[in-house]
Amino acid sequence: MMPLSVAELAAAIGCPPPATGADAQVTAVVIDSRAVVPGAVFVAFAGEHVDGHDYVDQAWQRGAVAAVTARPVSGGPCLVVPDPQAALGQIGAEVVRRARRTGLRVVGITGSQGKTSTKDLLAQVLEADGSTIAPRGSLNNEIGVPLTATGVEPSTRYLVSEMGARGVGHIAYLCQLTPPDVGVVLNVGHAHLGEFGSQQRIALAKGELVEALPADGTAVLNADDPLVSAMRNRTRARVLTFSTQDPSADVWAGDAAGDDLGRYSFTLHAGDRRAEVRLRLLGRHQVPNAVAAAVAATALGVDLDRIASALSAAGLRSRWRMEISERPDGVVVVNDAYNANPDSMLAALQTLAELGHSRRRRYPQARTWAVLGEMLELGDGSEAEHRAIGAAAAALGISRVVVIGDAARGISVGAGRPDARDGAGPGLSGEEALFVHDKAAAVPVLVERLREGDIVLVKASRGVGLETVADALLAAS
Ligand code: ATP
Ligand code: MG
Repeated sequence: MMPLSVAELAAAIGCPPPATGADAQVTAVVIDSRAVVPGAVFVAFAGEHVDGHDYVDQAWQRGAVAAVTARPVSGGPCLVVPDPQAALGQIGAEVVRRARRTGLRVVGITGSQGKTSTKDLLAQVLEADGSTIAPRGSLNNEIGVPLTATGVEPSTRYLVSEMGARGVGHIAYLCQLTPPDVGVVLNVGHAHLGEFGSQQRIALAKGELVEALPADGTAVLNADDPLVSAMRNRTRARVLTFSTQDPSADVWAGDAAGDDLGRYSFTLHAGDRRAEVRLRLLGRHQVPNAVAAAVAATALGVDLDRIASALSAAGLRSRWRMEISERPDGVVVVNDAYNANPDSMLAALQTLAELGHSRRRRYPQARTWAVLGEMLELGDGSEAEHRAIGAAAAALGISRVVVIGDAARGISVGAGRPDARDGAGPGLSGEEALFVHDKAAAVPVLVERLREGDIVLVKASRGVGLETVADALLAAS
């Protein structure tokens, strides 16, 4: 981390320095007492299940030099603040402020879908150019963003910050902690629609990223999404656009084509320059993510050829996201159990349908299976959204749908009777659109029916935890 003494850290969070140990250097900032290393500062706050204050003792034992707490805890130097979580934000902000003096550049990424994918792609592109810090997984909130920032070292050139929002004002706050030089807005979809109320409000929230940019910063906007394009009026920064179809965008992808496992190749165009990209990641939806990462890297001065080769070498960093595995008996399991909302469900079903087409070149009898659970947090529209997904699956020609859990039942209803909105055909029969009450019941139903060449997509919201079904299917060969 950046050189910082306990006294300097105390000043950053508005605390007097502790009576002892004020000169000690802080080696790390952690919120999990099990991660405390000698010299670490432990920030204690009440989470959903545990209260960090119960673990301050353990932190002292493991060599913490100070604890940030909401009340005094004996055994070592405590920095007592009204709100330790807010203090974590201030510590992250202080680290970034110091690192700017040694040349750190910050990229913020937001959008309804693809933040983590784009973050992972961009981090791998920037690493080829200089030392880069990016969150592991999806640490994209008021805890994860500053915690990731505390990992910045004097030698770090780039910090990639994934910024999620559950309401208006959230991203503005995250931008105060890690003020971006480059802000990428991917799309405005339906994720968390229940909390926001409308797509306009989601756009309002996502656009806070470009409002926070300085005049010499760069806003990277998706030209293919009208709600994102309109954000050009909300920033004083230079605007660069990206597209998967429009040659008038600053950077765009032409001639995108997938191979038999759904990995896409395309030509990256930037002005009169071009470079070939061959992604290792699965799914057409990775094309806009890759192009967005390319624009952000361009804005930071990375050469286009270097960007293209880093994108082509980039692998998946996060588990349970379109993780594809083939059993020895030729059954393919696509584990996308990390999360789901209507847009990402649709994207995954489209990918599944495409995979089915290419798979049938080798296994003419191969069927596509969509094993789906609930999409959480959809508010009043939940039932209709689940039905629409079922209808979309039928319209895309998915062979079999297996729906898990009562709250997701609408999917099997929709798959049976696709509605006019999706312009669908006759829909799936009762044997083709199955419903089971829970995860345990799904596994035997599938194991019995799967055969050589079949492709199974497994997807639901994080809270459903469908990865256990994917694991069981893989183990069942
Ligand atoms: P979260 O809000 O859960 O952190 P995220 O924005 O980080 O999500 P990813 O984890 O990259 O998004 O992808 C989540 C899902 O969205 C995946 O299931 C993937 O299939 C789908 N997805 C990824 N990129 C796009 C895109 N550009 N358009 C539509 N769907 C996408
Ligand atoms: Mg994410």
